[in-house]
Amino acid sequence: MDKHFETQAIRIQSEKSTHREHSTPIYATSSFVFEDAEQARALFADEIEGNIYTRFSNPNNNEFIEKLCALEGTEDGVATASGMAAMFISMAAFLKSGDHVLASRALFGSTHQILTNLFPRWGITHTYVDIHEPLDVWERHIQPSTKLIFVETPSNPGLDLIDLAALGALAKKHDLIFNVDNCFATPYLQNPAQFGAHIITHSATKFIDGQGRVIAGAVLGSKELIKEVRFLARHTGPALSPFNGWMLSKSLETLAVRMEKHCQNALELATFLESQPAVKSVKYPFLPSHPQHELAKKQMRLGGGLVTFDLKGDLDRGRNFLNALKMLSFTANLGDTRSIASHPASTTHSKLTDEERAAVGITPGLIRISVGLEHIEDIKADVLQAMESSKDS
Ligand SMILES: *Cc1c(COP(=O)(O)O)cnc(C)c1O
Repeated sequence: MDKHFETQAIRIQSEKSTHREHSTPIYATSSFVFEDAEQARALFADEIEGNIYTRFSNPNNNEFIEKLCALEGTEDGVATASGMAAMFISMAAFLKSGDHVLASRALFGSTHQILTNLFPRWGITHTYVDIHEPLDVWERHIQPSTKLIFVETPSNPGLDLIDLAALGALAKKHDLIFNVDNCFATPYLQNPAQFGAHIITHSATKFIDGQGRVIAGAVLGSKELIKEVRFLARHTGPALSPFNGWMLSKSLETLAVRMEKHCQNALELATFLESQPAVKSVKYPFLPSHPQHELAKKQMRLGGGLVTFDLKGDLDRGRNFLNALKMLSFTANLGDTRSIASHPASTTHSKLTDEERAAVGITPGLIRISVGLEHIEDIKADVLQAMESSKDS
């Protein structure tokens, strides 16, 4: 039997060097030496496995990917220099001019840009489906040229869910590649492969690093599909630096304990916010009031590290709330040990019209908190004082 999640995240390790080190060293090397002409030939001919050049593979990145595969239940993967490189190659590897992508409308901003403004230049079209649409609407939008379904769940910043098993079955029925950006949940909370996903993508920048230090990503899947992704990566070069691969492999060692605490703090903050008179509504997948609470319990182990709430009042109330925070950070990231607050209507989604914002669940008073690992009482106290002092500013 496979070892447990925590054990695999810690004990999967690249082979020790002749120095017998306990912790994996950083392999800061651009290339690897061939023992002889025959080995070089066999390596280039893919007859044997081994490192050649760090743009293709490197022991630190291999260790990081081997762990992620064990945690997600996939066979193989590719580490990338950013989450966006992962999103891009995870789709581009399977698409050509004339193909069509079916995607959830609630996607990370840059993923949206790839589908809306870049792929059309190469003759690749898409259809967005609103996250609340039932399965038959998804099915109705499948065209003969549809190759791939791309979704994120929970969504950002709405924290709405997509039924992974239902979409997985739909993808199977129509022979489509089902690609899930699992960044918000992490492999500790949700394993899309269990529900029929073929490709799992990650921005490792968020909870996987968990400490706001690294930009990185990964694409995971079957050996057969990853072969295509690896070909594209090897020859276009979005390779992860070995230093970052080393850091992320270390980060995975603590992913389980960190996610337990992120989720515990987030649930406590969400429950506290629900009792506040200045708050119109709170969204958190593991709150019984979440409209998809049952689905959350079915496909997620815990509710995740993000909480959103709707502050009574207008756009300025949201901005004033952020200005009044004393401890929580105001920064364009999430999944950090430090709690982070953001106001999508005036920042990430400010270019959208009110109607477009409403379609992805963003109201003027919507605040997103990435709940960190500080003591929960200190997080609650800062949110409470900011809520009170922003009332009259
Ligand atoms: C941050 C993020 C990305 C992009 O990842 P980078 O590492 O910033 O390139 C993609 N998808 C989701 C859901 C994200 O949160």
